Amino acid sequence: MSENERQVRQITPKSEDFSKWYLELVQKAELADYTPMKGMMVIRPHGYAVWENIQRGLDARIKAAGHVNAYFPLFIPEGFLKKEAEHVQGFSPEVAWVTVGGQEDLEERLAVRPTSEAIIGHMYAKWVKSYRDLPVLINQWANIVRWEKVTRPFLRTTEFLWQEGHTCHETAEEGEAETLRILALYKEFCETELAVPVLSGRKSLREKFAGAQMTYAIEALMSDGKALQMGTSHNLGQHFSKAFDIKFEDRNQKLQYVWQTSWGMTTRTIGALIMVHGDDSGLRFPPNVAPTQAVIVPIPSGNWKETVLPAARAAEAALSAAGVRVRLDAREEFTPGWKFSEYEMRGVPLRVEIGPRDVKSGQAVVVRRDTRAKEAVPLPALPARVGGLLAEVQAELFGQARVFLEANIRDAADYAGFKRTLEKERGFVRAPWCGDEACEDRIKTETMATIRVIPLDEAEARPSGPCVCCGREGKAVAYFARAY
Ligand SMILES: [Zn+2]
Repeated sequence: MSENERQVRQITPKSEDFSKWYLELVQKAELADYTPMKGMMVIRPHGYAVWENIQRGLDARIKAAGHVNAYFPLFIPEGFLKKEAEHVQGFSPEVAWVTVGGQEDLEERLAVRPTSEAIIGHMYAKWVKSYRDLPVLINQWANIVRWEKVTRPFLRTTEFLWQEGHTCHETAEEGEAETLRILALYKEFCETELAVPVLSGRKSLREKFAGAQMTYAIEALMSDGKALQMGTSHNLGQHFSKAFDIKFEDRNQKLQYVWQTSWGMTTRTIGALIMVHGDDSGLRFPPNVAPTQAVIVPIPSGNWKETVLPAARAAEAALSAAGVRVRLDAREEFTPGWKFSEYEMRGVPLRVEIGPRDVKSGQAVVVRRDTRAKEAVPLPALPARVGGLLAEVQAELFGQARVFLEANIRDAADYAGFKRTLEKERGFVRAPWCGDEACEDRIKTETMATIRVIPLDEAEARPSGPCVCCGREGKAVAYFARAY
């Protein structure tokens, strides 16, 4: 590709067409690409590097909370899936099946895992015999296939990547505590590492995971005002242990079914990073998960290779030694201006410019991606200042997202106001709900909004009045939104 061709890599402004902006950005920042198979994407190196950073941060937290990793098979026999009735019903519209192996028709067809409760339940029945075997705290990093009709890179694809935790406990209380511990872990991870503030709470029964007793979730608000589920934590109760016969001898030598949980976070979170932080110039990655945190761009002029380049190399070495993920781009076939917009598109949090005049005065110019603020930094102070600036960018992105979230939570006084807000302003609408699924259905049909979460905090969940939809007694406050 010539430089001229690459320079016209502008994207549709976000305010003009959000969906187009998103799709163009995914491609132009080289995060993902389409394949000949509908709904299946390639995660390109720049996108995969973000996923690796997400994995690292999440994996460390999951392990610190006492879990270990394992790997279960991709295929699940149909009979296993059928054991939990609600589970098979919930997933059957989107399961891909293997019916032939090599040249032989299979006696029993195999599901390509849409989630792994069934195969893991079967194995746990074999492994768990006594209370001494509990708790079981296993996580796996894997790929998942769900045959989706409408797809969008990172947000909804036929195959995606995730982690799924599957635990067994002695008591209902321990199962519930684990479910909530993971919900809190997910929230902390999103806010600390992804700089994405979330609402957390429980789902309505209509929105829960098929086979779960109760589903909890964290929900973020994208900058077009639509919600995105960032992670879910399910209290499975004894639904699967009864279906798969996972029994243990308790402390009184009595046979009991275990209490289970499952929980997951996926490559969707990359979609959230794009939609929460991105702008008209491209991505704005939070430094904690940015593949490259700082890019050094030497300004070529005069005998720059003898003056600027050595200074740039020294800066690269110093930043790298300080633990900064840094890249020096000394390519001569691209102009500094081209590089500036290229790294803005790719979301690199800091740009370090070093030109002949900077070398003379022993400094570099550091430019922030988030605010575009520039400052001259003496070269010896560069590692410390870059470290400080990365922390500032991380905090600024979270702060901006939190202001946006808070400004887009609105209370609805009545159903007309509720509908008007969802139509005109979107965001989350907080409203009392009677607990009846008929109201949820009506709201979804008429406004395309669903209950995203019901707050766990009792005071926060206490309804301020009658159900916004039917006018009967309100049972809880719910956050409604249109969602991806
Ligand atoms: Zn109602």
